[in-house]
Amino acid sequence: MTNRQDLIDRITDDIDELVNGATTTETVDRLTHVKGHWRASKARHTVHHPPLLAQLRAATTGSTMTSEDTFRPIPGSKPSARLDAIATLARIDQQSLSWAQVLRSRRRVPLDDRLRGLIGAAVAADVDQLAGRAGLASAVRSWRTAARVVSGIEAPAFAPDVPCPNTDCEKRGSLRVRFDLRVAACVECGAFWDSEHVEQLGRIVAWSAEHLSGPRHWLHDAEGFPLECMECLLTRQEMAERARGRLAATRPVARGA
Ligand SMILES: [Zn+2]
Ligand SMILES: [Zn+2]
Repeated sequence: MTNRQDLIDRITDDIDELVNGATTTETVDRLTHVKGHWRASKARHTVHHPPLLAQLRAATTGSTMTSEDTFRPIPGSKPSARLDAIATLARIDQQSLSWAQVLRSRRRVPLDDRLRGLIGAAVAADVDQLAGRAGLASAVRSWRTAARVVSGIEAPAFAPDVPCPNTDCEKRGSLRVRFDLRVAACVECGAFWDSEHVEQLGRIVAWSAEHLSGPRHWLHDAEGFPLECMECLLTRQEMAERARGRLAATRPVARGA
């Protein structure tokens, strides 16, 4: 069971990265020329990353933020990258509004201030409001991860043509994977995979690309006759059933006369 203080620390760090940005220190190899000789040495290099929310806003206009917090347009940036950024900002806005309501913190303020307010609210919240898949810590982590994945329009995220593995979603083509940062997120449902789970996601994506690309999966037997793949049959049936369930759940309820 995760400790309450750990959850608050994680929420604080994630919101800090969203509204204030992050500073990382990297070790770089440096060659220096000293008295006619080249000498290799390690140097510590501090990089300031602009706030993720500001990066997201820049991405909605097809520009990027440099580490000096200035905007630079990206020639030929993809409209789909802009739409991902718009959808992600809208989701963070909507979900943070519900959280602010639940935890009774400031709602009708700009998004940055609303997120800052959630840190204070988290300190006063019950541990079961913070922990678990439906808790605040998981929601905030999903905002941070999605923002990291989607705002990198200079190196666009990889969008595999497979269904999202979240069984409540399963939307095709909505996954965005950033190999450089080892993070992935679904732009449809907000499910996310951090560095420790991204390999597992990679295996699911590879399996799905092999087995779930068409309406059915045909193999060939030794004589060359088509043979339906048995490995994915059950998964397909379960997915079809869940799709029917989701459709029924979203169908508008008939209004009484
Ligand atoms: Zn999804
Ligand atoms: Zn198959």
